[in-house]
Amino acid sequence: MVANGPSFRLLPRLSDDVAFFWTSGEDGVLRFLQCNACQFFNHPPGPVCRRCLSRDLAPHAVSGRGRVETFSVNYQEWIPGSEPYILAWVSIDEQPDVRLTTNLVDVEPEDVAIGMEVEVVFEHADDVYLPLFKPTSDGGHT
Ligand SMILES: [Zn+2]
Repeated sequence: MVANGPSFRLLPRLSDDVAFFWTSGEDGVLRFLQCNACQFFNHPPGPVCRRCLSRDLAPHAVSGRGRVETFSVNYQEWIPGSEPYILAWVSIDEQPDVRLTTNLVDVEPEDVAIGMEVEVVFEHADDVYLPLFKPTSDGGHT
């Protein structure tokens, strides 16, 4: 089993720019800051669009689906008794250059592959909802 508890994860600080991101999962929806001028998703969030320099940015919902770009399995017991966990970069379907550093859950390390389709699940810890990813329930692509 892969560890799925919040005990060893570092929780983000909620500055104004990123608070929406870490609380978005309250309704089960992943959101990124999108530029209203050019539709570019800016992540990590910032005050200015990195593509067109517009300041007209607002959080927009995405599908929550993406792909594993790369991953590594941590077998080190940083906390005694902790299970191995999978650290991954996941790109989102809407804009593959938006990548989240995240953990994969509900999958064994030996079953993870680069390019695997995944979908977001949220882990509620204190006042944040951490976006983690698990293999898509419909089995993904061929
Ligand atoms: Zn823009």
